Amino acid sequence: MRPTRTAFNAGGMFPALCVSLLAAAPASVAAQATPAKPTPLEASMDKLAKHPTVAAAFSALQSDNAWTLDQQASICQIPAPPFKEQARAAEYAKRFRELGVQNVRIDKEGNVIGEIRGAKPGPTLMLAGHLDTVFPEGTDVRVKREGTKLIAPGIGDDCRGLAVVLSVARQVITQKIPFSGKLLVVGNVGEEGPGNLRGMRAIFGGPMRDSIDMFISVDGTGFGVTNGGVGSNRYRVHYKGPGGHSYGAFGMPNPMHAMGRAIAKIADLEATTTPKVTFNVGIVSGGTSVNSIPFEAIMEVDLRSETAAALAEIDARLQKALRDAVTEEKARWPKSNAALTLVVDTMGLRPAGTTPDTTFIVRTSLAGARTMNVYAPLTISSTDANIPMNLRIPAVTLDGGGVGRGAHSLDESYDDRTDGYKGPQWVLLVVMGLLGAK
Ligand SMILES: [Zn+2]
Repeated sequence: MRPTRTAFNAGGMFPALCVSLLAAAPASVAAQATPAKPTPLEASMDKLAKHPTVAAAFSALQSDNAWTLDQQASICQIPAPPFKEQARAAEYAKRFRELGVQNVRIDKEGNVIGEIRGAKPGPTLMLAGHLDTVFPEGTDVRVKREGTKLIAPGIGDDCRGLAVVLSVARQVITQKIPFSGKLLVVGNVGEEGPGNLRGMRAIFGGPMRDSIDMFISVDGTGFGVTNGGVGSNRYRVHYKGPGGHSYGAFGMPNPMHAMGRAIAKIADLEATTTPKVTFNVGIVSGGTSVNSIPFEAIMEVDLRSETAAALAEIDARLQKALRDAVTEEKARWPKSNAALTLVVDTMGLRPAGTTPDTTFIVRTSLAGARTMNVYAPLTISSTDANIPMNLRIPAVTLDGGGVGRGAHSLDESYDDRTDGYKGPQWVLLVVMGLLGAK
């Protein structure tokens, strides 16, 4: 059966922003203004694009664009619901091995990790796409093609990223681009909401952490550079009591009324715009009938901010509001001995982080876009890069080119149009620029 979007919500899943629609930072507009003379970094990126091996890679990515699209479509037809990415991971690892990627392994969490070693010692850059989708088991993931358009759940988010990583790895290896250091290529698990960034938490919480100097996630379509990671705290909140008959047992604290008090307080929280802070009660449920005092009321709350400090502050005010609601509802019925309890379950915590736009990785990403003659805005979103950003490891999320529509919906589409190949070209140029190819 084809599940509906309502069914996803009923299953307790919630849509998470991958590469999102948040506002572009104005700084990027200035960065894109036509400069009179290229900066030294821009000039070096222009030169890198003309290096014979890079030029050969560019040409192959364009002429063999069908290969990239075939990877994107075929990987997308292997279902990868949250926590069930194994089949797609096994296939992705197989494709890395076939390309000649070295030391390909699947870690305990389920991430596929392989290595491409440079000619000389240098920094280590991780380039990742995420394997998981938001779609549950049983979703029809067959890919339909209409001209340059591919239509299937997950085709852009993030089968595009997975295909770009494969295409970049293929060209770096076959063209023998001379770079320094190590390129780690990754298909990671757990990017979407339910996964709560578990793939990246495993990588950056384990022994690899100290060896990764830079991180790029390819997620989303178009040419954006995400250098701000929106943090989010998500909770499922329960108010519980004995419940009873609405007439016969009247006079005891009502969990639903307590939750109503809490929601009124949440609705009145102050939210700043700089840094941006948001709060939302997204789902409420509970109760058994109109003439029963409910024994339980449940709500799901999402808090987000661009900075860790602002997120912690709104979180503290939320927790106080939740507790105060219990106190007030109990005070309303001072003669009742009935219990009223509050249970807060954590659904997901995503740390906030920022890679400043003065860093080498951001400037190289923008300089690469300039060389490619594409417009790349700086954006803020919630992606795998949140984890390294929070650890102050230089990290960005780059879009994979093309035009995407309807991420997280069953009619998601990816349109390659006439120049989708520029996505992998850009990513390759940025990666090689960061790894010192000259
Ligand atoms: Zn994504």
